[in-house]
Amino acid sequence: MGRIYLDYAATTPVDPQVVEAMRPYWGDVFGNPSSAHAFGREARAAVDTARDTVARCLGARSDEIFFTSGGTESINLAIRGVVEASEHPSPHLITSAIEHHAVLDTCRYLERRGAQLTVLPVDANGLVDPEAVRGAITPQTVLVSIMLANNEIGTLQPIAEIARICREAGVLIHTDAVQAVGSIPVDVRELGVDLLSLSAHKFYGPKGMGVLYARKGTRWQPLFRGGGQERGHRPGTENVPGIVGTATALDQAVGLLSTEAERIRALRDRLIAGIEFSVPGCRLNGHPLQRLPNNAHFSVEGVESEALLVSLDLHGIAASGGSACMSGALEPSHVLQAIGVPMEAARGSVRFSLGRGNTAEEIDRVITLFAETVERLRGLSRSA
Ligand SMILES: *Cc1c(COP(=O)(O)O)cnc(C)c1O
Repeated sequence: MGRIYLDYAATTPVDPQVVEAMRPYWGDVFGNPSSAHAFGREARAAVDTARDTVARCLGARSDEIFFTSGGTESINLAIRGVVEASEHPSPHLITSAIEHHAVLDTCRYLERRGAQLTVLPVDANGLVDPEAVRGAITPQTVLVSIMLANNEIGTLQPIAEIARICREAGVLIHTDAVQAVGSIPVDVRELGVDLLSLSAHKFYGPKGMGVLYARKGTRWQPLFRGGGQERGHRPGTENVPGIVGTATALDQAVGLLSTEAERIRALRDRLIAGIEFSVPGCRLNGHPLQRLPNNAHFSVEGVESEALLVSLDLHGIAASGGSACMSGALEPSHVLQAIGVPMEAARGSVRFSLGRGNTAEEIDRVITLFAETVERLRGLSRSA
């Protein structure tokens, strides 16, 4: 029996068409985009076209798109970039308790360097209250950073509404859209955000490639010093194959959205219904409706995540305890703590994240194997 991958939130395979689109740029078209000769101009043209494609996919202008080394760098650039460009002696940041570590750790780093930080709580479904954002804004607030979609429990935040509040208050807003892009429609103008981060390896593009959207007129500092690449905002010779791959993958993901999102949502709902029917003592975490179409996150009573995941892995099923970055951690994740999952239930958490490769047959096999595994592990712990 083949292996079943249900960890698309951790990373996705590079689509074969994306590999093909990148191929010429390792060898034949190897020029440095900053070189004025024909080799350089050829590479420059590829980067320019890729930038136009990414801009079109996000509803942005080409000069608002900056290529980076991934989601983490884009997030660091957005948050540190805005804070370091601000004139406040003690700038204030607002974020939420369920952000990815790239956001939380960057905010805490800035707090240690003299910034003020408000970390907003979320409700039991993982939602940030837009009114709480309004209430937290002070005259010192320079940036609000709230994620569009949570990587563990899949909850979607009301970013357009939060952005409206920020705009009224004259405060910039960044959103970590890494999990959202490719799963739900993402349009920077509709969202009304000033900055938005994404990562190519989460939508069937290459690893180590990201994009930062920064609305024209937004003031932010680069993190690196060096050449003038990316209009001086991100110096360093461009990763031309990576940039071409990112644009190709995004274009393809956006094109597939209308059909794939519904197909994957149906599979996900089949998985949730199957597990809820056949595994007692299982609770679905995250918002029941306002959630990513590919996310199903459960807390399972009476089992340990670690044992569950190892057992599933032995059966060829790849799932995750929550976030790939935290595997091996003994503490329940900060996200589960923030939504108030009792410690006992949080210890047995498992995230299934679906993607292009999954079929209904796979989902049915996972339901059966999951139910058997949970039953066996519960039996073991009872007899221990
Ligand atoms: C994966 C992820 C990141 C980090 O992106 P990288 O490209 O892996 O650095 C940031 N935020 C969220 C929500 C993610 O899922």
